[in-house]
Amino acid sequence: MILTMKIDLKNLNEKRTLVKDVFKNKFKNIEVVGWVQNTRDLSKIKFLLLRDVSGIIQVTGVKTKTEKNVFENMDKISRESVVYVRGSVKDSSQAPGGKEILPEEIIVLNPAEELLIDVSDFSKTELPKRLDCRFLDLHRKRTQAIFKIQGEIANSFREFFYNKDFLEVQLPSLISSSSEGGTELFSVNYFEKKVYLAQSPQLYKQMLACSSVEKVFTITPVWRAEKHNTVRHLNESRQMDIEIAFAGQKEVMEELGEAVKYIVQNILKKCKDEIDLLELKLKIPKIKYLSYDETVKLLGIKYGEDLSPENEKELDKKFPETVIFVYSWPSEIKPFYIMPKDEKEDAKLSEGFDAIYKGMEISSGGQRIHLPDLLTKKLKVKGLNPKNFKAYIDSFRFGAPPHAGWSIGLERLTQLITNQKNIREAVLFPRDRDRITP
Ligand code: ATP
Ligand code: MG
Repeated sequence: MILTMKIDLKNLNEKRTLVKDVFKNKFKNIEVVGWVQNTRDLSKIKFLLLRDVSGIIQVTGVKTKTEKNVFENMDKISRESVVYVRGSVKDSSQAPGGKEILPEEIIVLNPAEELLIDVSDFSKTELPKRLDCRFLDLHRKRTQAIFKIQGEIANSFREFFYNKDFLEVQLPSLISSSSEGGTELFSVNYFEKKVYLAQSPQLYKQMLACSSVEKVFTITPVWRAEKHNTVRHLNESRQMDIEIAFAGQKEVMEELGEAVKYIVQNILKKCKDEIDLLELKLKIPKIKYLSYDETVKLLGIKYGEDLSPENEKELDKKFPETVIFVYSWPSEIKPFYIMPKDEKEDAKLSEGFDAIYKGMEISSGGQRIHLPDLLTKKLKVKGLNPKNFKAYIDSFRFGAPPHAGWSIGLERLTQLITNQKNIREAVLFPRDRDRITP
């Protein structure tokens, strides 16, 4: 019988069989639950494709065999309706995956209304509309695949540093003043005061590295009130950060290279279906080190300029499937807290680097200034007022070792690994200049 009715949820998750297990094991009678991917009526035979978290299976009704009521109503269930199916499993050379379910009972737990977007794998709905209906866009296996891979990226990052005895830390998102200068911040009313959303966990992770904790990592949201509208920037994003005591740019670049290799290796191992579905050509990356000076010569660009998106693409062409470290940048174009060469405030070069992978910057990092006097001088050189950074400078007066670190954008890395044109594909609920819902 096909009914729209409530079902006893008690033990349903225990009783049901996951679709992937139907294919793997020998079952006779099963109960499955899921979403209706599609239905097809060939008059004497009817198909219903049922999808759950683990896969898709064909439910086949045969006019001469299936109970009349079930057969007649099978193709009337709207797409994406949630159904319960009880039936028997049969081998079938024609069915996708080689097995099908012959239904004895189908219950519609909640019929879906007319869909607002095209939820097929190769959806014809444009991205903004899909994002408006993200809850529905997430019914698509392709969308799910991106976030399965993102989960693996975050988990592998965490695992990599956890296994190396780094401490995972939770840092504040509300800050009293700008941590880096430069970037614009979002202000928030905080009782009688005005405070800001953190643009990075920079200063806090430095405090931890400088305490005898020494090695820390965190995954944390950050906010930047930049008015850009690009395919690589969000106004709310997540960063994967580390900071290490007694380290310079070289040590932390090595950690970054190894971490990215570990992340990709885990994705290759654990996300095979997602890689197939998204047709990704993913390889464990090679590592390349280029000084800023070498890079300028190689690309024929003007000394003292940041790399443009085109320069980053060109580097990828020259060194494909490679994490490219451009190190020892001119101090002038790195933040004030990056250590100048030889601890000299007027040094032209710094201990700062960028990492480029798949044609885009994935990370910036470097050695930090741990010497209060040098920090004060450097702030002045940058045209910033040391008075505004008093608490930060003072934190290095009580036993602060040399230290270094970096930050990878989680969505940026997801975008590149899953080969998406727009970073918004790589964040569940994007926050950009025009979008604050859903
Ligand atoms: P870009 O040059 O790409 O604008 P950035 O140099 O301003 O980046 P950093 O402050 O170095 O960014 O941030 C560290 C990392 O965080 C970047 O390498 C990038 O992966 C990611 N990231 C930075 N800004 C954004 C943003 N607005 N949206 C998403 N990810 C970002
Ligand atoms: Mg950067």
